[in-house]
Amino acid sequence: PALAAASLHLRNQAMLRRQAIEQALRAELEGGHCLALHYQPLFSARDNALVGAEALLRWTHAELGYVSPLEAISVAEDCGLIVPLGYWVLRTACRDASRWQGRHAHPLRVAVNISARQLGDPQFLEQVMDILRAEKLPADLLEIELTETVLMENMEAGAYTLHRLSQLGIHLAIDASGTGYPSPACLPQPPHLGRLKIARCFVRVLPAQEHSRKIVSATLALAHGLGLEVTAEGVETLEQAEYLVEQGCDVLQGYAFARPMPVQQFVELQASH
Ligand code: C2E
Ligand code: MG
Repeated sequence: PALAAASLHLRNQAMLRRQAIEQALRAELEGGHCLALHYQPLFSARDNALVGAEALLRWTHAELGYVSPLEAISVAEDCGLIVPLGYWVLRTACRDASRWQGRHAHPLRVAVNISARQLGDPQFLEQVMDILRAEKLPADLLEIELTETVLMENMEAGAYTLHRLSQLGIHLAIDASGTGYPSPACLPQPPHLGRLKIARCFVRVLPAQEHSRKIVSATLALAHGLGLEVTAEGVETLEQAEYLVEQGCDVLQGYAFARPMPVQQFVELQASH
């Protein structure tokens, strides 16, 4: 009975936290100032050039403290706030990316994570087009990142949306988060402009672990065979970076190069790069 009571208590605590997050998120979306995006720089493996950044949600709330993007997104998906939250993320990322163009020798793309509910939303396509137009961002400077789970949950409605997005010139990236691996059936096909991302869990154990070495070489062969690029995520050491470059990876992302940072800092990094 003590165990049951403790487990009930924990479940109640978790429920209360989710309710508090929902309330705080609602207030935030109605005009708060605590939601933010940080940008993690992406570097070309070929010549170390800065090629873009991934937008990552950051939220520190006065009472709740730091709420991780995974927790915020999961609550938002459950309570229906994912549509306004996703809109805010996409709009902010496109606005920032539009402003940072022209400061660098070549255009810098912004990658934005999209959740399952967003891709399944019938308004999504139109929202993306409206945002690009309003923020004056060329479509080929936007990359949409989807996890393999998001793809699998949206095979039919999603396929049409993805097709239209790529016709507009928007790039698609599959974030293989390590919870599963994308089946070839849901990989971007022409005219999709695509990329596969190798998850941190594989990169972390490189180059020592044989299984991860095989995952890397198989991913590179599959992606390059299909005309897709490969980004390795979570590159923390020079040794990992060297191995990935040697194997033919296209883009590197990780603490070894740069952590996610506020937009102002990203603009300063561009200037110095
Ligand atoms: P993700 O898309 O796989 O993003 C990469 C995550 O790895 C980020 O965690 C980033 O901070 C972290 N990271 C990058 N380099 C390194 C490294 O070298 N070492 C380590 N240990 N970590 C590294 P973060 O920001 O906590 O985001 C977690 C996940 O939350 C993201 O995974 C993405 O799936 C989701 N997410 C973040 N922002 C958004 C958003 O705006 N919308 C949606 N739908 N999902 C988001
Ligand atoms: Mg991502």
